[in-house]
Amino acid sequence: MNKVQPFKKVLVANRGEIAIRVFRACTELGIRTVAVYSEQDNISLHRFKADEAYLIGEGKGPIEAYLDIESILEVAKRNDVDAIHPGYGFLAENAEFAVRCQEEGIVFIGPNPEHIQMFGDKVDAREMAVKAGIPVIPGTPQPISSYEEAVSFGQQHGYPIIIKAASGGGGRGMRIVQREEQLQEALDRARSEAKSAFGNAAVYLEKYLDKPKHIEVQILADRYGHVVHLFERDCSIQRRHQKVVEVAPSVSLPIQLREQINQSALQLMQKAGYINAGTVEFLVTPDNQFYFIEVNPRVQVEHTITEMITGIDIVQSQIRIAEGYALQDPEIGIKSQEQISIRGYAIQCRVTTEDPARNFIPETGRLLAYRSGGGFGIRLDAGNGYTGAVITPHYDSLLVKVSAWAMNYGQAANKMYRTLTEFRIRGVKTNIPFLENVVQHPKFLTGDYNTSFIDTTEELFE
Ligand code: ADP
Repeated sequence: MNKVQPFKKVLVANRGEIAIRVFRACTELGIRTVAVYSEQDNISLHRFKADEAYLIGEGKGPIEAYLDIESILEVAKRNDVDAIHPGYGFLAENAEFAVRCQEEGIVFIGPNPEHIQMFGDKVDAREMAVKAGIPVIPGTPQPISSYEEAVSFGQQHGYPIIIKAASGGGGRGMRIVQREEQLQEALDRARSEAKSAFGNAAVYLEKYLDKPKHIEVQILADRYGHVVHLFERDCSIQRRHQKVVEVAPSVSLPIQLREQINQSALQLMQKAGYINAGTVEFLVTPDNQFYFIEVNPRVQVEHTITEMITGIDIVQSQIRIAEGYALQDPEIGIKSQEQISIRGYAIQCRVTTEDPARNFIPETGRLLAYRSGGGFGIRLDAGNGYTGAVITPHYDSLLVKVSAWAMNYGQAANKMYRTLTEFRIRGVKTNIPFLENVVQHPKFLTGDYNTSFIDTTEELFE
């Protein structure tokens, strides 16, 4: 018999749309919800969407509050919380937080601290991929310790190369180097940026691939060694290495290659002994070679579209796995890999309060009007999407995630466009006009895109 410990109360150590997403999952499971909020989030919506809400990080900054491990644990203990969901960002990939939860007898809804640690360090993650027999991009096996090492890597593999922070994430901590003359300065900058952004100056080098697609595979794994994949997402539509539009499944990869990539992801997570939800990311070159880049040991922003094509609730599965259920138990209901099938196509757009006409500068202020699109096949995951909401400069600019599902890709794109045109947001500019251009673009509609699409397609900005 599996050892199951059902949760009565779950705290979400996060804010915005992902906090609300997790509350919804809990409520449907009959679990009481606890929100925490910073002083700056005093009137933010997530606080009012939980059964209970408590201030954390008093006197601290807006970000620091959500990183205040002891303040969050204090709230959890005082209010008989059984488990904490970290969402994404903030403490989601902080192994120390997962350990502290364990020490306090609170379940961390996510992987074990060892896996957070292993995949939080991109160099360790690469090493794991190599052990699992998965192709990695030619790169330095360890963080580099000298300028000479970098020079010889460049000479051996040719330019361009990319400098990456070992602890980097969110598209930050990367620097592309086109020629040897730029190397010294780029290295110095990358190191100091990595140190200040991630508290770790270690950087490593990779060959910079030309026009790859970003393909990632969603994994679910229970405590008993069962691992499944929920197929792939294409997240190639990026701006400055950050995802803007995501599609599931991939439109343009040959079937055999998709299968190979899905299998590789499965193999890696099996080999690592991973537990809970995670994503394995790959780059795929125009000649259809695929390479591992990293594992994200947490729920991702774009998990919504995988839920739409598989019908599997990833956040509820995370909770059930953390309670101790096996994948095949009726509470999760995934009997085998073969039983998971996909239907149709889903697209997600990240609507942000950024002005596309002014280089995506973040906007702040009050939403004087907020009306969203909708209809069959549309899913909305909003943080502060309501008339009167105040958009502050303290947090990232994600306003609402719009996901569209249809039986075929073209219909999903049309549905997305139609929905975007229905939005009426006043008071603060958004990137909706830009997103409308993306989802109508002929290259988007034929799946003919890679990670350089936005940077090389001027008409998107018109
Ligand atoms: P992060 O953890 O910051 O998201 P990733 O390693 O996942 O960083 O990379 C983010 C994006 O950066 C990728 O989707 C891709 O567009 C680009 N990228 C990363 N490594 C390479 C590489 N070696 N060659 C080309 N593009 C890369």
